[in-house]
Amino acid sequence: MRYYVNRNAQSNGDHEVHTASCSFLPNPENRLYLGDFDSCRPAVAEAKKTYAQSNGCYYCANACNTG
Ligand SMILES: [Zn+2]
Repeated sequence: MRYYVNRNAQSNGDHEVHTASCSFLPNPENRLYLGDFDSCRPAVAEAKKTYAQSNGCYYCANACNTG
């Protein structure tokens, strides 16, 4: 599964991590490609290298969503 992180933070400061098929995936200019991972955990870890406050999307990466 390919994962992306939103370049724009949510109101709480989180940068959401999404799968390529998520309906909430940001537009291409607003997302950063993270890589191809088996689960959301390594994807969030990769996102945190760029955005320390990254979090899994509630819908497509719920296992990695910390609310
Ligand atoms: Zn998502």
